Amino acid sequence: MEWKVHLAEPDLGDDELEAIASVLKSGWLTMGERTAEFERRFAEAHGARYAVAVSSCTAALHLALQAAGLGPGDEVICPSMTFVATSNAIIYTGATPVFAEIISLENPTISPDDIKRRITSDTKAVVVMHYAGYPCEIEKIVEIAREHSLIVIEDAAHAPLVRHSDRMLGTFGSSGCFSFYANKNMTTAEGGMAITDDPDMARRMARGRCHGISHLARERFTAGTVGYDVVDLGYNYRIDEIRAAIGIVQLDKVRRNHERRKEIVRKYLQLLEGAESLTVPFAKHTGDSAYHLFCVLLDIDRISRENVIEKLRQQGVQTSNHYKPVHLFSFSRKRFGTAEGLLPVTEEFGRRQITLPLYPGMSEEDVAYIVSVLKSATI
Ligand SMILES: *Cc1c(COP(=O)(O)O)cnc(C)c1O
Repeated sequence: MEWKVHLAEPDLGDDELEAIASVLKSGWLTMGERTAEFERRFAEAHGARYAVAVSSCTAALHLALQAAGLGPGDEVICPSMTFVATSNAIIYTGATPVFAEIISLENPTISPDDIKRRITSDTKAVVVMHYAGYPCEIEKIVEIAREHSLIVIEDAAHAPLVRHSDRMLGTFGSSGCFSFYANKNMTTAEGGMAITDDPDMARRMARGRCHGISHLARERFTAGTVGYDVVDLGYNYRIDEIRAAIGIVQLDKVRRNHERRKEIVRKYLQLLEGAESLTVPFAKHTGDSAYHLFCVLLDIDRISRENVIEKLRQQGVQTSNHYKPVHLFSFSRKRFGTAEGLLPVTEEFGRRQITLPLYPGMSEEDVAYIVSVLKSATI
């Protein structure tokens, strides 16, 4: 299959190549100066006091939830309209995810009202997700959390460097977790970051990333000491210098690429204006976004989603689905007994949604082509 337009493409060039080469020449391959610099710059760009670079966003979420003290018997409210990593990270700690509904088909982020309804005496935290890079109703959720003494963790995998009111996404909760996976707005191939303003949380996450060890290799190397203690249960969630070096370069491109993504989304919206059997989530959004995904909802009473996806595929347009609701996966059904009917709006969104190509390197002609294929497939 030859794709004419991919779903996503990373923005990589000679600067990343040079960054990689300089790491290899330096002889220090993991958790060194570049990691420290990447953390410093990422924290600064988000107005956060601390950043801990890790091997993935999943690892960041796990460390944040662990550092927040979650464990068996605790309930954590989270969306089902998200990538499975959001709820898996909760399960890793021994806590139980409690899935909450989205606000609407136009705004598929977690509903503050439904969060309220699902709070019990065992609820300890809420994990939110900024779907497609658009802010969830984070202020309302932080307020609810304050009333009920709950911790808030932000899955900001879609939303690096997004300003919302007077600060950046990822800084509203106790910790914000970011992904640098290959198809995200900035990438290190695999990688992630947790940010926080809480020094204790930062220390615990930094320790948890490396086996719970008190003094890290670089500090021991610098100080010329050999002894260390293990003070917590930890993991190997380290990032390496190659990824950190790529991350430093990528971070500088994020804002420019948001602008480019925004132009592409505008073009989509303009060309889709009046298309009857389509609903476009976030079409009326004002304010900042990472424009990570462009999605549309099909009128599946009239047209089959499978047919539309197949017609797009035949014309070389790659699509995806973000997401099949987590509570409907066979693992969730087995583990939590969840089923259809639990979250009707989430389920309808999941059934009707398709994700169309969106990345900074796309042309306006690509958008026009995709929209014409989509229109002919949905008539
Ligand atoms: C990609 C993604 C993750 C996981 O990121 P990794 O870096 O691959 O672990 C978590 N949550 C959401 C919403 C994502 O899109």
